[in-house]
Amino acid sequence: MSQLKNMSLSELTRHQEELQKQYDMYKNETIRLDMSRGKPSQEQLDLSMDMLTVLTNESHVVDANETDIRNYGLLDGIPEAKEWFGTMFEMAADQIIVGGNSSLALMHDTVARAMLHGVDADATPWAKLPKVKFICPTPGYDRHFSICELFDIEMISVEMTEDGPDMDQVETLVANDEAIKGIWCVPKYSNPEGITYSDQVVQRLSKMETKATDFRIFWDNAYAIHHLTDTPDELLDIVKQCEHAGVPNRVYQFASTSKVTFPGSGISAFMASKENIQFAKKLMGIQTIGADKINQSRHIRFFEQIGGVEKLMKQHAAIIKPKFDQVLSTLEQKLAEKEIADWTTPNGGYFISLNTMEGCAKRVVSLAADVGVTLTGAGATYPYGKDPVDRNIRIAPTFPSLGELKKAMEILCLCVELAAVEKVIK
Ligand code: PLP
Repeated sequence: MSQLKNMSLSELTRHQEELQKQYDMYKNETIRLDMSRGKPSQEQLDLSMDMLTVLTNESHVVDANETDIRNYGLLDGIPEAKEWFGTMFEMAADQIIVGGNSSLALMHDTVARAMLHGVDADATPWAKLPKVKFICPTPGYDRHFSICELFDIEMISVEMTEDGPDMDQVETLVANDEAIKGIWCVPKYSNPEGITYSDQVVQRLSKMETKATDFRIFWDNAYAIHHLTDTPDELLDIVKQCEHAGVPNRVYQFASTSKVTFPGSGISAFMASKENIQFAKKLMGIQTIGADKINQSRHIRFFEQIGGVEKLMKQHAAIIKPKFDQVLSTLEQKLAEKEIADWTTPNGGYFISLNTMEGCAKRVVSLAADVGVTLTGAGATYPYGKDPVDRNIRIAPTFPSLGELKKAMEILCLCVELAAVEKVIK
């Protein structure tokens, strides 16, 4: 297989014509394939159907403390749901608020509270400051960046390495700029690269000197139990590290069952120091009397009924691992030798991150869209939707069927090559 860089102009032109011919053939078909968002497939959703009928008799309408779950109350959740998250993340009951159906909503509200009221009773509300900035490891989760945009928080991109964010950059930034109040982290099987932060990165995040005394780490542990292999990545407990480092209030941790049971109908958790939780509860108590306790209860009863959530996650993995393998084998087969792209091979999570040749990602997404393959918008993985070198594309393999995925990946690889040839010829 000759590489583009070794081809003469006439060879390149001929190659482009061949690729264009293949592309045009797809154009004549009616294709509708979506690899844009990290959604579980129907087969995965079916795994949790018994959750809908798990509350079957009168004894099921009370929680572990005999509180009627059908009625108002329990701002921080039913005890068994707190225990469930507490066991998973090694947090005490007074360090947890079990929320509603979305951890993203908890993150949004946590930023909103800090903007309006500050991070504690003595802190200045961020909205009263002339400037607030967040560090955004990139590529990252687009919806984190949208929260910053909404609140006019300036985003500072820091490159991800194989171990997590580039800590030399992070440390220098937070040590010198008081306006930097936060950092977004997806520490395990990160969105989109599938990277798990190394112990050293977690330790440095907890130990670093920050000029802002009200600096917070937004630790979005969305994929904590979403393993694709039997040898899961290990992540150091940042809450404990922050306690040891004498900054117990530095970290806010979030999680949810969105990709465990039903996205949009799961349960979520906000976890932090006792002091942080107490302060949040005071403000949240104005907003709501409490989240959906019936949903919390049926989640916990369902997990008990099936013999633990780990079993369920293994069933998920059995469905989605072949899809990840399909994406990776097509990339390997079609692109590996051409040296026009690279990609990640995650051990868990929901995404594969593809880097095209610089300046080609937008073109690839648009070429794919024109034949009916929807990808996450190029640039979405960067603050303000702007990938500085226009090369990153997030692949979400879980939703399409294996057959659809095979076709979508063949088309994507063709588009990557076509865009690369166009770029080299220019
Ligand atoms: N955090 C990350 C990193 C995600 O990738 C997603 C969904 O894709 C979410 C949060 C959304 O979580 P939830 O459904 O709990 O709001």
